[in-house]
Parts: sequence; C-alpha cells; structure tokens
Amino acid sequence: MSLSALARTVLAALVLLQVGVATGAAQAQDGDPSAQTAAAANGEVIVDSANPSVRTTGAWATSSTTPGFYGSGYLFRVPGNGSATVFWPFPATAAPGQYQLFARWSSGPNRASNAAYQVTSNAGQTVVTVDQRSGGGDWQPLGTFAFAPGKGHGVTLSDKADGVVVANAIRWVGGEVAATPPPSPGQSASAQLVEATVGQAAAPNDARFFAQTGYRVDDNAFWEYFTKRGGVRTMGYPVSNSFVLSGMKVQIFQRQMLQLRPDGGVQTMNLLDEGLMPYTTINGSTFPAPDPALAQAAPRPGTPDYLERALQFVRDNAPDTVEGEPVSFGRTFFSSITAQDAYPGGVPDGGEALLPGFDLELWGLPTSKPARDPANGGFVYQRFQRGIMHYDKGCGCSQGLLLGDYFKALVTGQNLPSDLAVQAKGSKFLQQWAPAQPSGMARPDQVPGSSWQGAFRREPAVALDAGHGGSEIGTSHTYPDGTTLAEKTLNLRVMLRLRDLLAQTGYQVATTRTTDAPVNKDKKDLTGKGHPGLADDLQARVDVANAAHSDIFVSVHFNGVSDPASRGTYIFWDPSRPFADRSHTLAEMVDTALVKSLKDAGYTPDNHGATPDTAVLGGEHYYLLSPKTDVVPRPSDMPAIICEGLFLTNDGDANALRNDAIVEAIAQGYAQGIRNYFVRFPAG
Ligand SMILES: [Zn+2]
Repeated sequence: MSLSALARTVLAALVLLQVGVATGAAQAQDGDPSAQTAAAANGEVIVDSANPSVRTTGAWATSSTTPGFYGSGYLFRVPGNGSATVFWPFPATAAPGQYQLFARWSSGPNRASNAAYQVTSNAGQTVVTVDQRSGGGDWQPLGTFAFAPGKGHGVTLSDKADGVVVANAIRWVGGEVAATPPPSPGQSASAQLVEATVGQAAAPNDARFFAQTGYRVDDNAFWEYFTKRGGVRTMGYPVSNSFVLSGMKVQIFQRQMLQLRPDGGVQTMNLLDEGLMPYTTINGSTFPAPDPALAQAAPRPGTPDYLERALQFVRDNAPDTVEGEPVSFGRTFFSSITAQDAYPGGVPDGGEALLPGFDLELWGLPTSKPARDPANGGFVYQRFQRGIMHYDKGCGCSQGLLLGDYFKALVTGQNLPSDLAVQAKGSKFLQQWAPAQPSGMARPDQVPGSSWQGAFRREPAVALDAGHGGSEIGTSHTYPDGTTLAEKTLNLRVMLRLRDLLAQTGYQVATTRTTDAPVNKDKKDLTGKGHPGLADDLQARVDVANAAHSDIFVSVHFNGVSDPASRGTYIFWDPSRPFADRSHTLAEMVDTALVKSLKDAGYTPDNHGATPDTAVLGGEHYYLLSPKTDVVPRPSDMPAIICEGLFLTNDGDANALRNDAIVEAIAQGYAQGIRNYFVRFPAG
C-alpha cells in the first residue's frame, strides 16, 4: 500500500470514529457555567509579584516593557528546568472558602505556550497550564478552588516551559461558602490535573469547554479532529462557536479555522488565501508575500505520488537554518503532530509514517521563502498555505502566528490591528459580524450561503454617565485650604477611569460626556416642553444609553445634603421598572464591591447599601431611573443605577476623596461590581 493510500485509509477510519463519539454533546449546555460562582463572587484579593509575601527561587528579572500587566511590573525568565519558581501565597488575612482563581501576565510571541501554575488548595495540588502568548492584559481564569489561610496554600509558577514565563499577579475572587458543591472526594487531584488544561475551572466534567476563551467545541467531528491534531498546542483555544460560512460549518481557533466538508471530513482552511486574509502586515509584523516561483514549483494535489512529493517540497523549502539563525522551520513543521496526538489509543502499524502527512494537513505547503521582519531583525517568518511560521530570536523558538485570532478581529472589528484594518478596507469580511441582524451579518449578500448567528459571544455593553457637567456642578466641598472640589469634576474622573477598566476587559462602553460640558450641548427640546432645561439634559443621558443598546446604565455621582453628618455609600435603583430585579442585583453587587474596595484601600464607609429611589424621594423616582412619565418621555430600556460614592458634604468622606487611592478604589469597586453582575447575567 502506498503511503497516500494508507493515509486515506486511516483518515477514513478517523471519520468513521466520529459516529461513535456522540457522548458529551448534550452536557454542559444548561446555562453558563461561570454563573455557578456568582453567589461567591463578593470578595477579591490580589497578590502582585512585587508583594513582599511573594517568594521566588532562582533568578527572575523585573520588567514593565510589555503592557498588560497588573501593578508596576512583572517578573520573567527564559525557559528552564523547573527549578526556578515564583510562589504567591494565599494571604493570611483572607477568609477561607471557595475562590475563583485568576492569573495575569503580559503576552507576546516569545512567551510560553505551556506556563504551568501549580495550585495548592484544599484539593491538594493541581497544575493548570496556560498559553502566555496571548491573553495578556486580562485576568485569566485558572479554576475554582477552596483555600484556607495558614495551610501553605497558594500558587506556584515554574520556569519549565517552552518560552518566556511571565510571573505577574494572582487574584482570588469569592471567599464565601461554595455556591455549588465542591468536587466530590472521588475526583482526585490527579484527575483534575489531567483536565487542567481544558478549563476544568468552569465545568469540571466538560473537556470541550475552554474557560480561557469561554468557547466550547460542540461539533463531534471538530472535536475529534482537534484532539487528534495536537489540540491547544497546535491550534490554540477555540475563539468562536461553530457557524456557517459559504455553505459549510466552520469554527475558529486561535491559529486555524476548521471546516466540515459535506462528506463529514474536517479540514483546516487556508486562512491566508486570496478570498480570506491575503495580507502581509498584521499587528506590526511584516511577513513575506506568496512567492509565485514557489507556487509554480509546488506539486499539484491529485497528481501521482502527491503526498511524497509534497513532503519532499517541504523538506526542500522549509529550512532549519536561515542566515545562521536556528529557525527550525522544517523541524517545527515535522514535529507538529505527535504519535500520541494522532493515536491516543496506541500507534497502529505504519501509523508513524503517516504523521508527516498530518503535519502537511495542518500547515499546507510553503508559499514563500523565509524572510526577516523588516522592522525587527530578531523575527524570521515563512509563509505556508495555512499558517505563518514565526521564529523569535528572543526565545530561540518557532511557532505559528495566531491567524485565527486575527481573522476573528477582522470580522468582529474587536481588537482589530490598525494595519490589518487598512489592508482589509473593502474586504467582504471586514466587520461583517453584526449580532443584532437575523443572519448575524452586516452585509449577508457579500458572503452567500452563510449564517453567523451566535458565532461569537457578545461582550457586555455598558452606558456610563458622569453626573452634571458645565454650569451644573452638582454638590461640592470646600477644604480648609480654600480649594473646592466640584462633584461634576470628580464624577467625570471616576467615570473615565471606570470606562477604561471596563474597556480593558473587552466591554463595549458608551459615555454620556467625556468633558466638562452638559450632555444636551445644543439645548435641544428633548422632552417636548418647549423650553429646554435640566430635564432635557437628563433625557439626553438616557437617550445615549438607549441608542447604544447597552445592557446596563450606570450614572456616577457623589452625594450632598444639608446635614454634614450624613456620609457613606448609596446605590439607587428603581423598583417600578420591568427589570427592577436586575437593577436591584446590579445595585447590590456594585455596593458590595464598592464598600470592599474602599475598605481594602483603607477607608471604611457608612454602607447604606442598595436603596430604592422611592425610599428617599417619598415614592418618586430619579429622572435617570424613572418609568415613563409626563416629564420622562423616553425612560431607559435597561437596568440602571445611580452610584452616590461618598458624601462631599461630609468632612470625613470629603477628606478621603482627596486621596487618589480612594478615588481609584471607587472606580475599581464599580468595575468589579459590574463584572460580577455580568457573571450572574451574561450579555447576549
Ligand atoms: Zn450628583
């Protein structure tokens, strides 16, 4: 039997296997798994690498070069043998309980794809492997574990990895009694260890769900192909749900897009083809264009001995050394898929000989010669049909660029690199994703036979209002030194910081004002009274939230009353709206997080809690929260709250507000409360 005939036989066998893999399709569909921990998400502890309690072994360098880290910088180290470690202890002052655990790093192409965090908790030791090449700038979930102080619990990161390991910060969220029962005693630490790289955090029994990105590989054929072709190591995490593109089911992973053929077989798509993403500069990296001479010389599929000739073509054109640099392009290509990947049940006779064919399936043929990045001599690229091989002198490693991530950025417009946007001007894929449309597409006629409904999870959309502005200063405080703090100024400062905090985690944020000005600048008669006034300025704010189709509306204020003894936090919501339960939950979560954040920053406020507006207004409503009335022609379409952070008319509160750390704590508290709300009520 020729090699290619053998390949076809084994591939056919793999396709047949899919029929028998019908388990798991129905599980873990009952609700968002992350919601399970919502009830516990009321406390937060962050331990930064600069914290004196953090212990290191071996030499770790400090840096703040690559953004995305928490605090003032991060520790990093080139790969080693595991003898160098960083240990973040579970703080002695924290309450015992069930916590969601998160890690933070700054990502880049030279980072480890398999940085190993060892979590020591009540469950023993669990290793969670993460890919630090991406995901920087966000808190990335490691799982949910029970911790207790004084028991040596914490998180250890070692240098045993395939790239630069970044040790930055660890965050514990929760601390109350578990909202769901902990794993049964039968689920040992070693069992968790096996599951650790596949999002055991959110759904312990669902290997197909990846908490790192929040997507699941539902389709059995895709799952079969993914697991037999190296999984996360070769393809990265799923970054979409499956959807229909030009008549075929597809799913996007960080490095690849998988396509289900009508015959039930799966193949990787040529993401760099003319019809998809035929570009040469993405996110500042410039890689070679397709080389026509190479295309001319390449063997044609369907010709005799194609597979043998194709593999020889790879050997001839994907070198291991370029201008003295050990780029290992050939070696990387031919070590993509291991025997363990392809044959988890044991290697069949002749199976080893098929592995190069699987590598070819993943990468396709080289379509350019290797070339240095003109902007970065330490980077060498080579273009293949289905990937860009990237050598980074910094780590001496080679790997595929995250082309799937870029394709997702292209179609969603989120995190879209500006150079890619420029080249893709006129592309039918540019910002084609439109979740509000029935097809999920902005211009469905451009990509016939497609349905993108539900292709991507929608990020939360939040409308933020900074109270007052312009001649409306709100309340104020005059300090003994004669300086006056106007509420409108502080509102704007806190709102802008809150906007940035939420935008950093991918939220879509709409704002009513970003300068010291009224929102109804043009003095339009928005309420139909014929004499524009304060009501029109308030209506303008609600109109912003409604026009943005935001999920929630949050108005930032500080309080002021005639009684200087009144102090503390009030979060107002309106009990008479159809979504009052959600407004109430939002108010509760924001208040809890705000008070916690202030306490952590050293100021313990009077906590007046989530308060119905009717309780302080004799049954009436605040304009921004109100149902439709004679004065409020267009009420908010979404849950809404007014946050009165502290009292400017109280000396203690006002003095605290002179401290930048307290103002920051207020913005952080609001952000955390809002994030907790969306864990309970996910967007879209
Ligand atoms: Zn106010």
